[in-house]
Amino acid sequence: MEFTLSGFEPIADRVYRAVAQPASVNIGLVVGSTGALLIDTGNSPAQGAMIRDAAQAVAGDVPLTHVALTHAHHDHLYGLAAFEDLDTISHRGLATWLAAGGPGPAELARFGMTDADLAQPTRTFGLATSIDLGDCHAELIHFGRGHTDHDVTVVVPLRRVAFFGDLLESSAPPACDEASWPAEWPKTLDGTLGALRRGFVVVPGHGAVMDRETAFMQRAEIHWYHDQAVELYDAGREASGAWQQDWPWPQEPSEAFVAQALARLEASGRPRTRKRSLTLHVR
Ligand SMILES: [Zn+2]
Repeated sequence: MEFTLSGFEPIADRVYRAVAQPASVNIGLVVGSTGALLIDTGNSPAQGAMIRDAAQAVAGDVPLTHVALTHAHHDHLYGLAAFEDLDTISHRGLATWLAAGGPGPAELARFGMTDADLAQPTRTFGLATSIDLGDCHAELIHFGRGHTDHDVTVVVPLRRVAFFGDLLESSAPPACDEASWPAEWPKTLDGTLGALRRGFVVVPGHGAVMDRETAFMQRAEIHWYHDQAVELYDAGREASGAWQQDWPWPQEPSEAFVAQALARLEASGRPRTRKRSLTLHVR
């Protein structure tokens, strides 16, 4: 596995994005007047150290003081050990997951790591917290479940930029797995996207930055996919074989999302009810 890091490129006033491999994850950097905030940490402690050096070089005289974690996936979390002396912050769901065993030895071994290489955040929060960087501040918000049960959005109002982790992606459709919450995902995005003013730069977990309107389009697609899942559920159908050419996403991510939505509907015990159609057109 090859670990690389692109240079930090500016995306807003003293706000930067770098891309770490594997997984092409976006790493964010916000430089204030008294401190700098890094968003996500890369795939391993060694990569985290590489990111730290690059971020500090960009921040110049301003010390790197804080790290925000958007969620617990390898490309966002596994570099955290390189920042253990800083104020590192996540939703408490991330710490709970780590305490319950976290990724496990086999998953860590893929990145040349053991449990000892996986650091804990120094503090956690439930709904929201803020970070003072001097001439600006960052708001860390958990509006609800979506990609995971502990997604954090980082909003920097004075710099008009917001980091969404994997709640949004621009290089591919949003990734949905057995830990995702398809029904709640659109509402979670509404909570943050709805509060952003026009002109905000939206940084997804993977891919180029987006504008607010493009982000709303992806939110609409996620909602649409959940509606498809509800229809399939009511019809007693499965995800496989449901995909059609005119669906917004390719077959694989479409089926992954619908399968997880169906699993959540099943687990909720929701009764299957066929919709009665309106007779709007009668011959
Ligand atoms: Zn993720």
